[in-house]
Amino acid sequence: MNNNYIQVFGARERNLKNIDVKIPKKEITVFTGVSGSGKSSLVFDTIAAESQRQLNETYTSFIRHRMPHYGQPDVDTIENLSVAFVINQKRLGGNARSTVGTVTDIYSLLRLLFSRIGKPFVGYSDVFSFNNPTGMCNHCEGLGKIETIDIERLLDKNRSLNQGAIRFPTFEPGGWRLTRYIYSGFFDNDKKIQDYSQEELEMLLYADGIKVKNPTPEWHKTSLYEGLIPRIERSFLKKEDGEKVRYKKEIEGFVTKQDCPHCHGTRLNDKVLSCKIDGKNISDCSIMQISELLEFIQRIDIPVAATIISELVSRLLHMESIGLGYLSLCRETSTLSGGESQRIKMVSQLGSSLTDLTYIFDEPSIGLHPHDINKINGLMKLLRDKGNTVLIVEHDPDIIKIADHVIDMGPGAGIHGGEIVYQGNLLQLKESNTLTGKYLSYHPKLKSQTRKPNGWLSIQNAALHNLKNISVKIPRGVMTVVTGVAGSGKSTLINQVLPRFYPEIVFIDQKGVQATKRSNIATYTGIFDRIRKLFAKENGVNTSLFSFNSQGACPVCKGLGMTYTDLAFMDTIVTLCEECHGNRFTDEVLQYKLRDKNISDILKMTVTEAMDFFREKDIATVLKRLSDVGITYITLGQPLNTLSGGELQRIKLASELENGRQIYVLDEPSTGLHMADIKQLNNVMNRLVEHNSTLIVIEHNLDIICQADWVIDLGPYGGQNGGKIMFTGLPEDLVKCKDSLTGSYLKKYIT
Ligand code: ADP
Ligand code: ADP
Ligand code: ZN
Ligand code: ZN
Repeated sequence: MNNNYIQVFGARERNLKNIDVKIPKKEITVFTGVSGSGKSSLVFDTIAAESQRQLNETYTSFIRHRMPHYGQPDVDTIENLSVAFVINQKRLGGNARSTVGTVTDIYSLLRLLFSRIGKPFVGYSDVFSFNNPTGMCNHCEGLGKIETIDIERLLDKNRSLNQGAIRFPTFEPGGWRLTRYIYSGFFDNDKKIQDYSQEELEMLLYADGIKVKNPTPEWHKTSLYEGLIPRIERSFLKKEDGEKVRYKKEIEGFVTKQDCPHCHGTRLNDKVLSCKIDGKNISDCSIMQISELLEFIQRIDIPVAATIISELVSRLLHMESIGLGYLSLCRETSTLSGGESQRIKMVSQLGSSLTDLTYIFDEPSIGLHPHDINKINGLMKLLRDKGNTVLIVEHDPDIIKIADHVIDMGPGAGIHGGEIVYQGNLLQLKESNTLTGKYLSYHPKLKSQTRKPNGWLSIQNAALHNLKNISVKIPRGVMTVVTGVAGSGKSTLINQVLPRFYPEIVFIDQKGVQATKRSNIATYTGIFDRIRKLFAKENGVNTSLFSFNSQGACPVCKGLGMTYTDLAFMDTIVTLCEECHGNRFTDEVLQYKLRDKNISDILKMTVTEAMDFFREKDIATVLKRLSDVGITYITLGQPLNTLSGGELQRIKLASELENGRQIYVLDEPSTGLHMADIKQLNNVMNRLVEHNSTLIVIEHNLDIICQADWVIDLGPYGGQNGGKIMFTGLPEDLVKCKDSLTGSYLKKYIT
């Protein structure tokens, strides 16, 4: 056995064709290949999954039973595997108490600093925590915000309790929380709320802890009456989990959030806020942008704090070096983008002194301008030089170029992929005949003729977040690309400000489609209804037999073909249904055929196979549209929640193609796409414009910027040092613009 390699033998997960792979340890290996070629199946579902599984095996059975259970990946053996850390773009999420400062531990260092050298001395470092009762503002309990219930929106005053006056789940007629009110004996349950006396209304809303007058049925006897407002506050507002999360949307319908009037959003009490270093309290420091905080901390010259200061400086420098200097410590993690979340996870690892780990990155380029990518490359080399193995799934040529070793998968996607088409160094990849090799040595040209706009959208005096009161015009009827380094204000301008002027905008993002285990491309595009009718007609039976929620569906998995075991707080376990073996329907239904295929066979067809099979015009048109956007290799029955963001986005685009005349916004559509996929995406986007639509694309990808008819570049940097318009105009003029970072990168790329 050779200790210098992770060796995978016989990998067959998903589309992998029983492959063997040899990955050099303590080097950077980049996995490339078109979207759907099998990179994730190999790296995440085989290598990372096996590492997690083996790690779990080392625990006692007591602990193991309390941990997520990982199934064995479909692979013969993996030798020489080390502990794998996956650093992906799953958003950090977290509740309102989780901030950039708390998740990176920088805030705890800052607390330590204040407890040592802050004046006046107020206590130990715990006191500076807004999650600690001695430090938090009592009014908002350290949340910095207070939530108020808008009664006009909560109650439908035209209705009685029995008619559903309370517009909230579990308080509706039949809902279990309503029974307490109905049986309290305090109200006429058929009286409209608008006819209540002031006293009755007070009772309904605010009364607290009153014994119920006339308690029926029996089990309500002991209970105290609690008005609607304290009830809702107790179960939904003062909690951070459970039903608060489940009913988030409904709650947002009648609850408004404002800065706490006592602490003005600082979350801390007056005593803590009075403690200062050089005139700043800890909240002032958390509000500052990290780059400013760094300068502030570096100016402190107090020898007793030297160790803490140098540790703080090193962490803050890490944040800055990965292009996050524009964030502030007080920023709630739930508002961060996927790319930002991923980079924060990365910083947390850099502090670790463990070696011989395997770090696995999922497309770290997301959200990054070519300018920022150089920084993140440095960090990945740092991880390697500490003696770790770094595996990266990536499409961006600027990241591919730091590879010590490349594993290129393909040749195509889905069943046409799943093989290793190249492995070795970068130079030889470029000379190889693979798709990746070809694209790496190819440089596009700007469009020779840009389209002419047929009108203008206009934004005036935008000042949200970091935007510097900017006004800008966006051409109608053409494709505009909005560029700029991470944090420069692109999403703020386009996703948040623009819709205030033009609410009719359609956003095509990588999520948002009803992507559940119950949906698939056949149901999403509507062709499944047609297919069921064809089956019914051919066999002289009822259409509903072929529906996932009918008698015809497998009774065990209810037509899913898989069984899902939900474990609280852990990943759901998915296994093939033992009853139908993934065929989804009962044996009776499976004997009905359409041109020799049963309904399960149809759902297992890829789009390409289905195109050969269906001659029916309406079905064929839909399939053609999917294949035009590169969705050829996905099966009709594959759950939408297993598709990548890029695949979902293209499916959405495909269904918009016929609409035309709309304003579309796409946020980083290149995510998850190989250079060859981007070519297809460009074709689809161009077709949308040809159907008279206005397209606004937020992008860093230089191949997409080359397709622009118009460019708006924000900058110059992120956060407070950004938010200005650096350039607007034709791509050919952007290349000549000396002030624009994007222009200089584009110039290098095309020549
Ligand atoms: P890549 O990472 O290269 O984009 P993946 O490894 O994600 O590719 O996917 C390889 C193939 O497996 C694709 O055809 C994809 O659609 C398919 N696939 C992914 N997840 C599932 C799943 N849960 N069930 C069936 N097929 C899947
Ligand atoms: P880009 O899209 O160019 O990466 P953003 O528009 O996301 O930039 O961010 C611009 C600035 O606005 C950054 O300083 C960022 O931290 C800030 N910002 C973005 N979203 C929020 C938010 N929800 N709350 C507070 N600040 C935000
Ligand atoms: Zn407060
Ligand atoms: Zn089943």
